[in-house]
Amino acid sequence: MTSKEIRESFKVFFENKGHKVVPSAPMVTKDDPTLMFTNAGMNQFKDIILGHAEIKYPRVTDSQKCLRVSGKHNDLEEVGHDTYHHTMFEMLGNWSFGDYFKKEAIAWAWEYLTEVLKIDKDRLYVTIFEGAEAEGLERDNEAFDIWKSLIAEERILNGNKKDNFWEMGDQGPCGPCSEIHIDLRSDDERNTISGAELVNKDHPQVIEIWNLVFMQYNRKADGSLDTLPNKVIDTGMGFERLCMAIQGKTSNYDTDVFTPIIQSIATLTGVEYGSSKDTDIAMRVIADHIRTIAFSIADGQLPSNAKAGYVIRRILRRAVRYGYTFLGRKEAFMYTLLPILIEVMGEAYPELEHNRELIKRVIKEEEDSFLRTLEVGIRMLEGKIEELKAEGKETKLSGQDAFVLYDTYGFPLDLTALILHEQGLSVDEAGFDKAMQEQKSRARNAAAIDASDWQIVSEGESSFLGYKLDSCPTKILRYRKIVQKKKEFYQIVLSQTPFYAEMGGQVGDTGYLLDGEKKYEIFDTKSENKLCVHLMKKLPENLQANFTAQIDVVKRRKAEANHTATHLLHKVLRDYLGSHVEQKGSLVAPDLLRFDFSHFSKVEAEDLRKIEQIVNQRIRENVSLELFEDVTINEAKEMGAMALFGEKYGDEVRVVKYGNSVELCGGTHIKSTGAIGYFRIISESSVAAGIRRVEAVTGETAEKYAYEQEDLLNEVKQSFNNSPQLMTAIKKLIDEHTALNKQMEAIQKERIARLKAELLEEQREQNGVRIFIQNDVTPAIAKDIAFQLLGEVKEPFVFIGSGADSPDKCSLSLMISKDLVEQNSWNASTLLRSVAKHIQGGGGGQAHFATAGGRNAEGLKPATEQILSELNLS
Ligand code: ATP
Ligand code: MG
Repeated sequence: MTSKEIRESFKVFFENKGHKVVPSAPMVTKDDPTLMFTNAGMNQFKDIILGHAEIKYPRVTDSQKCLRVSGKHNDLEEVGHDTYHHTMFEMLGNWSFGDYFKKEAIAWAWEYLTEVLKIDKDRLYVTIFEGAEAEGLERDNEAFDIWKSLIAEERILNGNKKDNFWEMGDQGPCGPCSEIHIDLRSDDERNTISGAELVNKDHPQVIEIWNLVFMQYNRKADGSLDTLPNKVIDTGMGFERLCMAIQGKTSNYDTDVFTPIIQSIATLTGVEYGSSKDTDIAMRVIADHIRTIAFSIADGQLPSNAKAGYVIRRILRRAVRYGYTFLGRKEAFMYTLLPILIEVMGEAYPELEHNRELIKRVIKEEEDSFLRTLEVGIRMLEGKIEELKAEGKETKLSGQDAFVLYDTYGFPLDLTALILHEQGLSVDEAGFDKAMQEQKSRARNAAAIDASDWQIVSEGESSFLGYKLDSCPTKILRYRKIVQKKKEFYQIVLSQTPFYAEMGGQVGDTGYLLDGEKKYEIFDTKSENKLCVHLMKKLPENLQANFTAQIDVVKRRKAEANHTATHLLHKVLRDYLGSHVEQKGSLVAPDLLRFDFSHFSKVEAEDLRKIEQIVNQRIRENVSLELFEDVTINEAKEMGAMALFGEKYGDEVRVVKYGNSVELCGGTHIKSTGAIGYFRIISESSVAAGIRRVEAVTGETAEKYAYEQEDLLNEVKQSFNNSPQLMTAIKKLIDEHTALNKQMEAIQKERIARLKAELLEEQREQNGVRIFIQNDVTPAIAKDIAFQLLGEVKEPFVFIGSGADSPDKCSLSLMISKDLVEQNSWNASTLLRSVAKHIQGGGGGQAHFATAGGRNAEGLKPATEQILSELNLS
């Protein structure tokens, strides 16, 4: 079976068991503060499992793009070195939300593997949770009994809490799990050592393929467990590992998921896969990472220097570095693998083809810039090596230096160690680990969120009324305390609310909860797994009160105007620049809108103005809002909304339409475009390869911006005595300035020539060395004279130049002719540094010419004398 057929057969199997087949959610997460990337199939169903969203389909199946490179699941260091962990992989899964439980989940998994795929039962082992007495958790006898009816008892192994008890986080749904492992070794090997002994022992051919999680508890903040009202089945099977098993291979990279990519790398580099351990690892790293990078860019996560973007940047750099070190790739090459990746995966994941040009450009630019960094890093390391050798005693690079190389230049420790080793040096590994730990704990402390359990105040569901109302009566449903970065605040859920929670770029509302005369501030509103949470510094005294929830209307109206303006801008950009323009990021705040979009060159000022004019025209046309709620994606597309990837399954979308601007959008908007008033673009810049950013203001803020510009102009006019010909006056000033500069230069030259002539007339000489001393000159003039002397004076000489701007600002220059430097090993730089103490300063330079600056002009004379005496010239 090909990988495509395998993926398909899984979905068909579960579809026949009454499951709804849904698409993969994006790999980059949007609405979950605890997660940067989807790392398991269940992520997109978290809102359902937590009870924030209704269960539309009690049985669901899919193939989910996952990424395990940060947080709880981080396999990055393994990838490439082993043959069965990837950064990005596909997880096949089936779910039951309050529907079937262990019996069906186990029986169907078994049926699929052994009857549909016909995997040899003698190669399979399963694990069940052995229990944990300390926590009062029993052995999962229920699962054991079900397995016993399907598989020989000696193939059912006990597993501990670490491997066989799954938890969503410190709190929340959890439960025992049961894993299925496969033994892919040869018959000989299997006869020598039983597979049972190798399960969960990191053997590359005895590996876990499927994990069946039985969520039946809910863990509270104090660690205790409740039973979960709606039990959940959550299963996850590694697609690439399954392909390896079915296709009779012993490495994921030998399946048709990877061989075309590996083959392309081999062709590109002229290195055969299988020819050496190091080149094999490098090829696997590259084949794996190109998928991750391409998919995350397609999902909207570009490489950057912070958070999720930084994770992606590091992965790309890891691949480039392996290519550089082991495959001799000194120039960008990753981007050339994109066509083959699209060939392999483009059909199942059309977002790749759709973003082809963008992905290519972003990868290429990242590679180029990293290769430059890599070279700087190598030079830096070479500098360190020289220092170490010069010092002689230390033969170890400090852990801190190694860490800087790692963190800033992307040098893994093994590379640094390798380069050092070639020079007979080594690296302080313990020091490196320490620096790494320190950084990790800094990051952890910054991100740590300590949440208490939700306190229920009243029962009920929360609803959002903010599309229509600015205030409404409400009750508190629940609240909890959060401690983050030592700051305390509360999250509150209301029975109904006009507060818009930050989403789709539009910032969250602020406002108040009112209890009669009492007013309690809500400083922000956020969405967490579909739940709208209001953030408050202080809780109301009477939690049971009948409150009024009131948003800050002025701020909201301004944000709405900016949101609508963003839609108009998006449409005009597409019409004016071309349909390659797509939204790549957006911020809608009350005083500013920021719009990032794909476009491959700078938008020129005249085009920006044209775009601005068309948007303002739309505003003056006062186009009315047409709103369509609960339409299907297809209906929305027919209305002309842009096809957007990354909608979750079954989502009914909301379409916001102003004339020919049609967008899927959950934000709040104004009734007609006239309310925007006025639109001004204030900047255009680049955010990444192929991505431009426009910032703009509207309404009052735009008016203010225009006044600021006018004020500035008035100030300039005043500086020119309100000259009626302002531009002529400015130009005249510039011309005069240039002419004066020229004159200055000529005078300067003359002076230098005169000073030099005077110096040459003096015949002061000592030990066959001519001595030139010039007081009262600036460092620039001293330097000029020194180098002219160097060109003209044939015999050995020393030149000392000095001068002072004021008693506490002075300078000293020293030139020693090159023959003297060579013969006597004299060094102007060292000498000047040592006499600089007289002028309370410091300096340096080269062996034949150096300069120093200081704070004590009285020291110039003794400094000059010391120079002469040290050179035996006094
Ligand atoms: P392992 O111990 O092998 O790392 P895991 O316990 O982390 O696996 P789960 O979190 O249970 O795995 O994920 C479910 C399934 O996803 C696994 O059975 C495996 O087939 C697959 N899987 C997990 N991590 C990876 C990875 N990094 N690359 C490819 N497949 C993976
Ligand atoms: Mg793992």
